[in-house]
Amino acid sequence: MKRAVYPGSFDPVTYGHLDVIRRSAALVDELIVGVLQNNHKNPLFSLQERVKILHEVTKDMSNVRIESFTGLSIDFVRTCGAQFLVRGLRAITDFDYELQMAQTNRIMAKEIDTIFLTTSLEYAYLSSSTVKEVAYYGGDISKFVPPEVAQAISRKIHPQTGISEA
Ligand code: ADP
Repeated sequence: MKRAVYPGSFDPVTYGHLDVIRRSAALVDELIVGVLQNNHKNPLFSLQERVKILHEVTKDMSNVRIESFTGLSIDFVRTCGAQFLVRGLRAITDFDYELQMAQTNRIMAKEIDTIFLTTSLEYAYLSSSTVKEVAYYGGDISKFVPPEVAQAISRKIHPQTGISEA
């Protein structure tokens, strides 16, 4: 059984993440999306909310499972019994950090390989933080995230007005 883990913050999931999820799920028998409880970051969405949103937007993908975890990604990958850790590469700016992490992880768990998927060009600019920034100032985020995510973001950011970017 080929199994991969795609770890990240997913605060919230974007079309860029979904592109990586869909494409990596096609490479393996089972893909586990690992949602990180990161105590150093101050997320817009709670861990439970991020997991729930991911469940909704991946419900048509039969070999994708959503799990949360704390601690090191590589330990989570091992706990899942997976052989691969998936990461997405957008631009050269991601590269330094991702290469360093992959090499460190390789030393910690030499049985696990990191697979990098380069982003589809239309999502190369996309990050969760940009989406939150645009939404915060009332911009249209419908090209960046699925409708249910856009609605969840507007409920968070504009709870009184009910402004919806979807
Ligand atoms: P982290 O906090 O671990 O960077 P993110 O949720 O920001 O978590 O990203 C998780 C992974 O998805 C990272 O490998 C990141 O490079 C990748 N990623 C994020 N946005 C995109 C995108 N638009 N296209 C491809 N990969 C992406």
